[in-house]
Amino acid sequence: MTAKEVLAMAREKGVQMVDLKFIDLPGTWQHFTVPIEQFGEEVFTSGVGFDGSSIRGFKTINESDMILIPDPETAFIDPFCEIPTLSLICNVYDPVTGKNYNRDPRFIAQKAEAYLKETGIADTSFWGPEAEFFILDHVRFDHSQYAGYYFIDSIEGFWNSGAEMNGHPNLGYRPRYKEGYFPVPPTDTLQNLRTEMVLLLKEMGIAVEAHHHEVATAGQGEIDMKYAPLTRMADQLMMFKYVVKNVAIKHNKTATFMPKPVFQDNGSGMHVHQSLWKEGRPLFFDADGYAGLSELALYYIGGLLKHGPALAAFCSPTTNSFKRLVPGFEAPVNLVYSQRNRSAAIRIPMYSNSPNSKRIEYRPPDPSCNPYLAFAALLMAGIDGIKNKIHPGDPLDKDIYDLSPEEASRINSLPGSLEEALAALQNDHEFLLQGGVFDEDLIKSWIEYKTKKEISQIKLRPHPYEFVLYYDI
Ligand code: GLN
Ligand code: MG
Ligand code: MG
Ligand code: MG
Repeated sequence: MTAKEVLAMAREKGVQMVDLKFIDLPGTWQHFTVPIEQFGEEVFTSGVGFDGSSIRGFKTINESDMILIPDPETAFIDPFCEIPTLSLICNVYDPVTGKNYNRDPRFIAQKAEAYLKETGIADTSFWGPEAEFFILDHVRFDHSQYAGYYFIDSIEGFWNSGAEMNGHPNLGYRPRYKEGYFPVPPTDTLQNLRTEMVLLLKEMGIAVEAHHHEVATAGQGEIDMKYAPLTRMADQLMMFKYVVKNVAIKHNKTATFMPKPVFQDNGSGMHVHQSLWKEGRPLFFDADGYAGLSELALYYIGGLLKHGPALAAFCSPTTNSFKRLVPGFEAPVNLVYSQRNRSAAIRIPMYSNSPNSKRIEYRPPDPSCNPYLAFAALLMAGIDGIKNKIHPGDPLDKDIYDLSPEEASRINSLPGSLEEALAALQNDHEFLLQGGVFDEDLIKSWIEYKTKKEISQIKLRPHPYEFVLYYDI
């Protein structure tokens, strides 16, 4: 849609408010709302000012004036506003230089797409993230700075059930352990909720391929969107999380995309399917190659595996991410590729072996990532692999968890913690700086933000399990 078409659509739908949304550094939506009479076509070129000083990972207070310029292609009617409200996703600009703000995640995604074209390797990349999430009935915890003392309470609060009896949950049809994937209702209590989410996504212009319950017992779900180009898919993922969370709230539940909310059950991953295309032709297919992969696809894989530890800083960017990346829960630990192995970081789906559907599935990411930064970083690693012909070596088609110790010792693993991932990024980020896609300031602010606001803060707080171990010491 052009700016003119967006305004015509707004008039036709009786829109009274325009909601401007943008993405902060960790990857959540922020917004403010403007009455429609304040919103003319010029906003699409000159933008609207706001104070960026309190936005996570953005500017300090003395240089805080910023501008938002909405992208007309992102227009949708917000399904959760009572009054007809037009929603637009924006890019962030610096009013002093008049240029894009270098820490605007959306700008980095757009630059990654432009860089791909510039290299001449391909003109389009397609992205298919499978975001998993939990829908929970009762979660109680203290959000205050003292959180930790009260958290034990919330673990008791984790259940998912259709009905309550005498104040207790009726767990008669709770899925058996590891059997959430995927019996029909009444064991699947989230069918109607997921359908409601999918219908809203469709109304917002997002094509959905399927939805289903996931393995974990405590109400885990997955909704799969049809693949789309990089920035568009990152936009869609923001819309996706918005819909999932708001539909859940409407039903007095909450949705969480934190990767490992429940101890000893499957976590929530976000496997990312990827392929490159040029002039309408797919570049990852070769009927004679391993798993139907072209040489170019193998080099792309080589780049992902080589930079896997650094990529984790953007793809598994929370301390909680690493509680998911452990053996035994269908999450990857090792940086290898395989056509059938779900314990490998990269799987080559074999459902269909047509040239158009040939793609690779990168399994380490989880939905706590900022999709703009994660997709951009993945693409940059793949491009680096292609440019430098990084061959990924042999595939690993047996179960990685059954390897002998010496076979296992030859395999690289993902980092074991957010600290390790950030250290890997610090030591390996040249590939991200190519074409000016990421810059040193962004890498530095990311590492600083994650270290000061997350890792250090968690280190300071008593952990619930410390009470189990030490209370009676
Ligand atoms: N939940 C698993 C993960 O953490 C994936 C399960 C699946 O889709 N097979 O990656
Ligand atoms: Mg899936
Ligand atoms: Mg899944
Ligand atoms: Mg998958």
